[in-house]
Amino acid sequence: MDNSSKERCIQCRLIIQDCLCRDISAFWAEHKITLLTSKKEERIISNTGRLLRWMLENISTVYIGEKGWEKEVEWEITRSDYTPVILYPTPPVCDGQIIMEKLGKPLNIFVLDTSWKNARRWLHKPILMNLKKIGLKTDMPSGYYLRKHSVESYLCTFQAVTAVMAELGTKDFASVSFQINEKFKLWVKSLARERGLTIKTTRH
Ligand SMILES: [Zn+2]
Repeated sequence: MDNSSKERCIQCRLIIQDCLCRDISAFWAEHKITLLTSKKEERIISNTGRLLRWMLENISTVYIGEKGWEKEVEWEITRSDYTPVILYPTPPVCDGQIIMEKLGKPLNIFVLDTSWKNARRWLHKPILMNLKKIGLKTDMPSGYYLRKHSVESYLCTFQAVTAVMAELGTKDFASVSFQINEKFKLWVKSLARERGLTIKTTRH
């Protein structure tokens, strides 16, 4: 039987025997994540935005292109309990911590959960253009080798979000980040094994 016909966990999408969903409780982060994705992206087994949705609690998803998506984005931007920012893959960007200190509110971080090619297109949507851009300060190695990266420094959604949470000094995140990252590594390993891929270590 090939892997495509095996029964999969609906959450982590691994074949049932490899499911990683047990013994994990979602973490409530002070900063909110607004994932911008598409129905097509979500169906891809190696999509990592989905992992964030079961590991984090303060997260919502907007499907770009679906009916009413712009209204949803607008609502997220205008809510008063957070400062909206977008996690931007390339400089120039602002320092998220400085924005926080200045405005005294946690961030609502918009994250594009898609390929680099789509992300570039989505970033030009007028509704997203006026958001303050934040980025990652440190260059980190990608531990995700399931898809071909067209841009070397483009981290998968999962790693980009956990890295930004750590950099922002998110309250209590340090105590769960090890466990979260270990789950991620296991998940990549299981999918790679299914696909007969070998582990590559990427250096930047
Ligand atoms: Zn599972």
